[in-house]
Amino acid sequence: TKPSKPGARAKPPSAPGLSIVIPLFNEAKGLPGLHERIAEVARYLKVKHGLRLEVVYVDDGSSDDTNRIANSLPALPLDIQVVTLSRNFGKEAALLAGLDHARLGAVLFMDGDGQHSPNLIETLVSRWLDDGYDVVYTAKASRENEPLLMRLGVKTFYALLNWRARHKIPEDAGDFRLLSPRAAAALRQMPERNRFFKGLASWIGFRQVRVDYEPA
Ligand code: UDP
Ligand code: MG
Repeated sequence: TKPSKPGARAKPPSAPGLSIVIPLFNEAKGLPGLHERIAEVARYLKVKHGLRLEVVYVDDGSSDDTNRIANSLPALPLDIQVVTLSRNFGKEAALLAGLDHARLGAVLFMDGDGQHSPNLIETLVSRWLDDGYDVVYTAKASRENEPLLMRLGVKTFYALLNWRARHKIPEDAGDFRLLSPRAAAALRQMPERNRFFKGLASWIGFRQVRVDYEPA
C-alpha cells in the first residue's frame, strides 16, 4: 500500500472487487448481447456498492468466432480478461482456469449461454455485501417443466452422491454462484485437479445461502 498524503482522509481499506468468470464454448452468437447486459449491471453496481468489476472470459477451445469476439468487446465499464485454452477441456477445467486468473477478490461464476441471467448478479452481490454471506449459490426454482425421466435422474444423482456423506451437497445447486474473497481463497487452496465445483464450493463451509432462479 502507498503511504497516504498527510491530511488526506483515511480511505476505507479498499473498495470491494468482484471477478465474473464465464466459460465459453462456441458462444459467439450470444456473447455481444450477454456482455452488454453484464456491462449494464456493472455500471449499476459501481454506483450502488462502489464495486470494482472485471469479467474473465474463458474460451474453452471454441471452433466458432468466440475468441475473436471476446477479444474485441469494449472494456468499459469493467475490465475484461480473455483466457484462451489450447483445446476444449470441458466446463469444470474452464472454471478452474478462470479462477486462476480472477484478480479482484470475490468471484462469481456464471454460464455464457444466457441461461444465467445477468439480472440476478445484483441479488447475489447484495447477499454477499449487505447480508455477509460467503457462498451465495443458486438453485432452479422449479423443475416442473423438465421431463419426468430427467427429474428422476437428477434425484438419483444427488441421492447417490449424498448417500452416507457427512457433508451433503445441496440438491439442484447450480454453477451460478458467488464466493466472497475468503471463500474464493479457500477454493483456490484445494488441491483437486479434477473438480466438481458444486461439491467443492459447498464443502468449504462458511456462511452459505441459496437463491432461487428460473433459468432462461
Ligand atoms: N462450456 C464450456 N466447455 C464445454 C461445454 C460448455 O466452457 O466443453 C460452457 C458453455 O459455453 C456454457 C457453460 O459452459 O457457458 C454451460 O454449458 P451448457 O450450456 O452446455 O451446459 P448446461 O446448460 O447443459 O448445464
Ligand atoms: Mg446451458
